[in-house]
Amino acid sequence: MKSILVIGGGLVGAACALRLQAAGVATTLIDPGDRRRGASFGNAGHIGAEQVMPWSTWGNLIGAPLHLFGAGGPLDFRWRDIALWLPWSLRFMAASAPNRVAASNAALTALLRDAMGAWLRLETLADMPGMVCPHGQANIYMSTRTGDKARELWARTPIGACRYREMSSDELARYDGVLHARPASGLHFDGTGQVRDPQGARDGILTKFSALGGLTICDAVTTLDADASVRTQSGRQFAADALLVACGAWSAPLMRQLGAAAPLIGERGYSMQSTEHNWPSDLPTTIFEERSVVLSRFTSGLRATSFLEFGSPGAPADPRKWARLHKHLDDLGVRFSRAPDRWVGPRPTLPDYVPAIGRLKRSPNAFYAFGHAHLGLTECAITAEIIEALATDKPPPLDLAPFAIERFG
Ligand SMILES: Cc1cc2nc3c(=O)[nH]c(=O)nc-3n(C[C@H](O)[C@H](O)[C@H](O)COP(=O)(O)OP(=O)(O)OC[C@H]3O[C@@H](n4cnc5c(N)ncnc54)[C@H](O)[C@@H]3O)c2cc1C
Repeated sequence: MKSILVIGGGLVGAACALRLQAAGVATTLIDPGDRRRGASFGNAGHIGAEQVMPWSTWGNLIGAPLHLFGAGGPLDFRWRDIALWLPWSLRFMAASAPNRVAASNAALTALLRDAMGAWLRLETLADMPGMVCPHGQANIYMSTRTGDKARELWARTPIGACRYREMSSDELARYDGVLHARPASGLHFDGTGQVRDPQGARDGILTKFSALGGLTICDAVTTLDADASVRTQSGRQFAADALLVACGAWSAPLMRQLGAAAPLIGERGYSMQSTEHNWPSDLPTTIFEERSVVLSRFTSGLRATSFLEFGSPGAPADPRKWARLHKHLDDLGVRFSRAPDRWVGPRPTLPDYVPAIGRLKRSPNAFYAFGHAHLGLTECAITAEIIEALATDKPPPLDLAPFAIERFG
């Protein structure tokens, strides 16, 4: 294959475009150009190689009422979008059957095994030294009771090739200056990390893509054909030897035109970023499990992320979520701007929480890479290596059968 159109320029599309261009495939990336629209902008930046368990499990389903937004938790459903999430939830339930969970767990374990390695290779390819901080993560507990409960849960949760250990009192004391109270306990995970800045990483990837001769078109694809020709919103037409659909939560309408069902939901998350803070740059990504809040120190500021709000990807934001996030930070004693940069965006989530990565069986010129849910930043680099292998007729680094979109009929 000599040329390809990559549709969607979030972290997944951008990483694929760079890998393809670097491999000698003339690549055109088409994206509307609003950097804040996709999930790649506002995420927690965590390279979460430990998250090999899919979220679709009976345990999560049974525990859901306790985690609802109305009960103080992170989980919410947009009533106006019930026609979207109700059928999706039925698929989620089907994916929670023990045999399906075991299959999804095996698929995610294989995909995440070399996720950090792939990121380090991407960092080198994109000439962005120091972008990856492989410093693990801290899951901390403010109360002994919740810490003990969490430990029981972690003891029976697979975490792939990652490891965790108790944090020492010295490590916990590092939170003295930045929280009201010292955490009662914490677990430090190894084998995970974060990027120095999610948008910075995407910018670095796209800059290198252009430097290698890749072409970027600022537009949205409206119609496409399996022969790899597309038409855009502004009426332009492009054609190549192949195309790749990588539009995150917006991928379903394009896949439908290719004859494939992609039961995606927008699992929307909220974040706030403050340049005003006193969070040390050398503290790892910190996860307050009791509050479902993640704090990440980026070069561009301190970011707090939370919430799982099921609905339409582009629905208006619910400002109560940012207010709740402020309350969590105030309760913890985190110094943060009262007027931070607020963001909401959709995780592209399939019912079994396994991304769709591959080549359409019925149209071999059509590739796809979307549905990375909570792990699109983590998995973008390994996904790009897989797409490069497929497009250049090399064996992919892992068995792709579990990632085929045809699993949804
Ligand atoms: C609050 C929050 C925290 C998160 N934290 C983490 C984390 O710590 N670690 C992690 O690994 N993951 C995390 N994620 C998940 C991760 O951000 C996503 O999985 C990932 O960004 C998805 O990337 P993507 O490129 O597939 O999609 P997106 O980033 O959504 O990009 C899709 C792109 O396609 C474009 N597009 C849409 N339609 C068209 C069209 N018709 N034509 C052309 N272009 C189109 C969009 O404009 C957009 O630019 C988080 C997500 C959220 C919301």
